[in-house]
Amino acid sequence: MDSQQAKGIAPSEGSPGAKGTVHMTDERCKGCSYCVVFCPTGALAMGGRINRKGYHLPELVHPDKCNGCDMCGLYCPDFAIFGVRTNRKKTDGEP
Ligand code: SF4
Ligand code: SF4
Repeated sequence: MDSQQAKGIAPSEGSPGAKGTVHMTDERCKGCSYCVVFCPTGALAMGGRINRKGYHLPELVHPDKCNGCDMCGLYCPDFAIFGVRTNRKKTDGEP
């Protein structure tokens, strides 16, 4: 078990071109799906993974759509998820 797993924090699932990603503390989640409903980009969905309490966990099913806005974190009543902006190299001509 590595240090991230020991803290219950799921590894980042961001994609190289994405502007953001999410981090989960699986054992805090109660599967209410507020994060999925309020994600403005549709990046999240309830998935097949469950935590030790038996709750289904949200998953970043469209990592390319995540912009790190942290709306999921703002609406999560249990502080189980949060979004972060990731550093992304600008392409030529991009401001
Ligand atoms: S950080 Fe924003 S875009 Fe990314 S999953 Fe959360 S609500 Fe959706
Ligand atoms: S809003 Fe929080 S508690 Fe509800 S499903 Fe999402 S991560 Fe889990």
